[in-house]
Amino acid sequence: MSTEVDGFGQDAASPVEEGGGRELSRLESRITKLREQAQTLMSDKVFLENEISSLKRRLSRLDDEVRMLKSPPLVVGQIQDIMEHDRAVVRSSNGTIFVVSLNPHLSINDLRPGTRVSLNQDTLAVMDILESGRDPLVSGAELVERPRYKFTDLGGLDDQIQRLREAIEWPLSRPKDFLDMGIEPPKGVLLVGPPGCGKTMLAQAVAASSDATFIRMVGSELAQKYIGEGGRMVRELFEMARERSPAIVFLDEIDAIGAKRLDSATSGDREVQRTLMQLLSELDGFVRLEGVKIIAATNRPDILDDALLRPGRFDRIIEIPYPDEDGRRAILDIHLSPIRTTRSVDKSWIIKRTEGWSGADLKALCTEAGMEAIRVKAKSVSMKHIRAAQATIEKKREESRRKGSPRHDLWA
Ligand code: ATP
Repeated sequence: MSTEVDGFGQDAASPVEEGGGRELSRLESRITKLREQAQTLMSDKVFLENEISSLKRRLSRLDDEVRMLKSPPLVVGQIQDIMEHDRAVVRSSNGTIFVVSLNPHLSINDLRPGTRVSLNQDTLAVMDILESGRDPLVSGAELVERPRYKFTDLGGLDDQIQRLREAIEWPLSRPKDFLDMGIEPPKGVLLVGPPGCGKTMLAQAVAASSDATFIRMVGSELAQKYIGEGGRMVRELFEMARERSPAIVFLDEIDAIGAKRLDSATSGDREVQRTLMQLLSELDGFVRLEGVKIIAATNRPDILDDALLRPGRFDRIIEIPYPDEDGRRAILDIHLSPIRTTRSVDKSWIIKRTEGWSGADLKALCTEAGMEAIRVKAKSVSMKHIRAAQATIEKKREESRRKGSPRHDLWA
């Protein structure tokens, strides 16, 4: 039967066709949904594959870590000589010398007398080459080729400057005068005094005026827990100084390794004592007129081992105390001069209210007064800002005194 017969025209769909159309659109929407699901599954797959490969990487890292943790520690040593048949003479970090075999993967050309290497703990075979211990960053030393401080940056220390120049600068710049006169200059100078009074600055300034390299090492860095490491660092510190002579070695906080030796020492203490022994042997070993001078500093001279103070070692002691009134005026002249101040600023007022202050405290007062002026948008520092700064610094000093740091009582 034709659709035309009942007058509805050719477009009218038969019920069969209508049913087929619905089925088709259901199928189409199902296909779209399935496509979306497939898309989601694909991206899940990619995500999981990435996850698997990142977990595999983590696993292999953890495997490496486990292997590393299980492997026995290596001993640090130094090549003394290379022998035939892949063997070498090495000095282990505790000073004992051995003939050992070499890791065949190492190039023999990279191994020279003096090269730092790691050694297998049991066989002492050379396993790997280590970075040069003489690198200042490795040995914890700070090296200043051209120190920037001048004596004119220091206030109130004229007498100390003079004594330090005689002991350090003159032997470096005029060694012949000493030879001709037949006298031996001091080898080492010990600067003693409370913190922040200019010991480091003074040592840098004498290095600058002697055209010497300045090498600073902090005693606590040398107080190593590892056997032989502190002694090695001392040896290398002096080797580095000799290579860069004229040089001044500045050993700050020498009390960290130079405290009196006690019988009841722990193994850690014994290691520190070994480091001190190495320092003493370096001091005894070097010739007085060669281009290396040593300046040590401490704010605990009361606990220093007498061995350090024997003639031929730190035989000149220079005290750098808290500045007196004249000293404080000279320090204020230095630190206030670059600051824009009003005429009202009265140095005598500051000097009266800063009894027992260090140079560092006075510098902090000047900076704080400047900050105060900036805070209130003033054009220059006036007495109002100075008074506020004095109160702030005094409070900080009080707090650090209450906490017992650092040994104010000793120098009061
Ligand atoms: P520490 O024992 O804590 O190492 P220090 O005695 O070595 O202290 P420095 O580091 O030399 O003290 O000084 C700290 C700062 O204090 C210096 O950078 C300087 O700004 C200031 N200062 C200390 N003393 C003086 C001084 N006599 N003249 C001018 N400024 C000084």
